[in-house]
Amino acid sequence: MRDTALFTQLLGLEEPSRVERVCIVSKPALVDVYLKHRSGVRFACPECGASLSAYDHTPSRRWRHLDHGGHITWLHARVPRVTCLAHGIRRTPLPWALPDSRFTVAFERHAIDTLLEADVSGAARLLRISWHEAWNLMERAVIRGQQAKKKRVIAHLGIDEKAVAKRHQYVTLVCDLQRGTVEHIADDRKKTSLEGYYQSLSVKQLAGIEAVAMDMWEPYIAATIKLVPGGKDKIVFDRYHIMDHMLKAVDQVRKREHRALLADGDDTLKGTKFLWLFSEENLPEKWEERFDQLRRLHLRTGRAWAIKEALRRLWDYQRKPWARRYWQSWYYWATHSRLPPVVKAARTIAGHLENVLTYFDHRITNATCEGLNSKIQMVKKRLRLSQSRPFENGDLLSLWRTETLSAIAIKKSLNFQAKRAN
Ligand SMILES: [Zn+2]
Repeated sequence: MRDTALFTQLLGLEEPSRVERVCIVSKPALVDVYLKHRSGVRFACPECGASLSAYDHTPSRRWRHLDHGGHITWLHARVPRVTCLAHGIRRTPLPWALPDSRFTVAFERHAIDTLLEADVSGAARLLRISWHEAWNLMERAVIRGQQAKKKRVIAHLGIDEKAVAKRHQYVTLVCDLQRGTVEHIADDRKKTSLEGYYQSLSVKQLAGIEAVAMDMWEPYIAATIKLVPGGKDKIVFDRYHIMDHMLKAVDQVRKREHRALLADGDDTLKGTKFLWLFSEENLPEKWEERFDQLRRLHLRTGRAWAIKEALRRLWDYQRKPWARRYWQSWYYWATHSRLPPVVKAARTIAGHLENVLTYFDHRITNATCEGLNSKIQMVKKRLRLSQSRPFENGDLLSLWRTETLSAIAIKKSLNFQAKRAN
């Protein structure tokens, strides 16, 4: 068999394309395959499909193809152009490559398989392409994946922010709370970060949003009210975020009190920070006695903690009016506690009360989103340990298996971090 016929078969070329000649070089190991098409053949206009004869050809271009016997293989061809009455001069689509790609479809497929098994730098090494080329192939795969993704209605959204680097660099995560998937990642935590997601949705998808769980963060609130129909009643301030504000208040009370006590030579609160972070039922048994003793001392910190614990019961109510009544008595207690951080937190929550109580209409929390968040955290921790290269880890791979788009998006956010760290 002649090498041109061999390569026509190896490349799986179909009519009218064929191999014109093959050039094999051993140092460096290269195969150059020159393609042409049968003369007199007709091509379709890429816009309307009209059958036309070739008008001319572009200058010769090359595409990276799968290696042959360890030889980097390039396809060379001139792309036929047609001149359509309706659409003017157009390049005809190629059977072996996507428009504007410098790689053949077969190579892209192999590259994506490799990227699924390795980090970007590892894949680039195996594929013998640059890091940027590997990254670019991945990004294009993500975009294709996103475009192919079914436009489904997501009833319950969770919006969360994630710190990705020091100096307050954030990304905004949008999660599907029912399916537990990351739907969108945007840089920063501005109004526009979330607007970008809403703007990508169809009218039907926007109308299908029933509830959105989030922290009391004005830019997210503003974006949701602006773009989600009836958005104001659909925002649910996430209970875990609210409790986080209370936990911080307790910790501030502890810090101030500890400082005041130390000034009098009293170190009662020394080493107790972590104890006050537990909720009653989660306190490990071995700490119970110590904690009971502390609580019997009638410390300001103990009072702040009790107020915080009482707020948790708000979400146990079955009906909104009951929860509202409970809130009122809790609020009175908190604001009369003479504990400034507690008063401040209580007022913040009160300012957002209506959308705290929407919980009783929708019953959603951001727990799913937080779960994804902690997976990302785990990936980041490993990253810090390895230090050397951005993406050396198996966690990412297992994420990828479950949710390719999310994982690539996470890679993106990690890259964002890595770029900043360098
Ligand atoms: Zn046309």
